[in-house]
Order: sequence, then C-alpha cells, then structure tokens
Amino acid sequence: MVKKVKWDPGHGGADPGAVGNTLLEKVLTHKIVGYAMDYMEANFTGFTQSTTRSGDQTLSLTQRTDQANKEGADVFVSVHINAGGGKGFESFIYNGSISSATQAFQNTLHAEVMAAMRKDGVTTDRGKKRANFAVLRQTKMVACLTENLFIDTSDANFLKKEAFLKAVGEAHARGVAKFLGLPAKSKPASPKPAVNGKLYKVQVGAFSDKSNADKLAAELKKKGYSTYIVQE
Ligand SMILES: [Zn+2]
Repeated sequence: MVKKVKWDPGHGGADPGAVGNTLLEKVLTHKIVGYAMDYMEANFTGFTQSTTRSGDQTLSLTQRTDQANKEGADVFVSVHINAGGGKGFESFIYNGSISSATQAFQNTLHAEVMAAMRKDGVTTDRGKKRANFAVLRQTKMVACLTENLFIDTSDANFLKKEAFLKAVGEAHARGVAKFLGLPAKSKPASPKPAVNGKLYKVQVGAFSDKSNADKLAAELKKKGYSTYIVQE
C-alpha cells in the first residue's frame, strides 16, 4: 500500500516564527522540508508526499492538521527551530493518548536526526519529549514535531550552513522512510543517456569549485541532457 507522508514546515507568511542571528524560523523550516522531500523522491518508492505550505503562505495550525486529516496521511512531521536560549535537538509527540506506532516513529526519527547532527558537530540531545501541541493533538495519524536547534544562541552557526540544513532534512526523510518501511529506489549503476542520446560528463576539476559544475549540470539537465558529475 502506498504510504502518505505529510510534511509541515513550521510558521510561514505573516508568522516568521522564531527570529535570531539574522535567521527566520519560517525560512529554515521550509528549507529543511524541501531537502527532506527531495531526498524522499530521489531515494525511496511506495509513498506520496505533500507539504502544508509549498511557499511562504500563512497557515493556522488547524489548517495544517485539517490538510493532513483530509488527505488521510499515514505520518505527519512538523519541523521547527527552537528559541529562548539553549542548545541542541529535541522531538515531541502528543502527551495525551497515542499509539505505540507514534512512539516508535519518534524513536526512529529522533535517532536519525540526532545522528546526522552529531556528524556535523552538534553535541546536545535534549531528548524525546511529549507535549500538548495543537499539531500533535489534532492530527489523527502518527505525528511528531522536531525542534532543530536554537535560532537565538550559538546553535545558529549550524543553522547558517546550507549543508547542515540539507543533512537535517535528509535525516528527517530517512527517519520517515525507515518507520514506514519504504523500499529504496533502485538506481542504475551507471548513468543512462537521455532519450535524445546525449550524455554529458561534467568534470569538477574544470571548475574552481563543485557548485559551478553543479550549476552547469543543472543547466544541461534543463535542456534535456543527461549529466553526471565526476570529481577530478
Ligand atoms: Zn516553531
């Protein structure tokens, strides 16, 4: 059976969420969810996914949970950034009656995200918690809310790095996929030429840095060519 995943980037539009160190929570949560969805798409099958906000829309908490309930999502993930002084990562599930699956999901998601953060130098695990948050209370499916470091402390140094946000997003995706038991997407061992038969090798060595090679690859892709990037 195809599983339905509902992502919820916290805040948005008129509500920036927490603010600090020139960062806005609503921007960070949107990026993390974007990276999560990209990673899901690239690596797993057997699911559909959607997000409560694809852009900078203003949404009430009830609008978010209504979407998930109406769509009959199997899992709901609300992504947030903490504030108020402190350090580290924590996750929440509802503090009322919950299914054992909800607990299992928190365990899996928390472990994946914390492991990714540790790899990047985050040391504080604030733990797996329970709270009476609207998005957790009002959702009918397995739901978990993550607070990904603090925007108003030195944690912001992590949050300013795009690669960190990407790693955190991808870890969320792995947590969801693991919990749902999604099959991995089978990938071709070597790049296959596109329908028009043109395959471009983009060599990173020819550029001052990899992002330029990525840019060229993206441009070629847009024109319908298959590309693959080679380091050196
Ligand atoms: Zn928030």
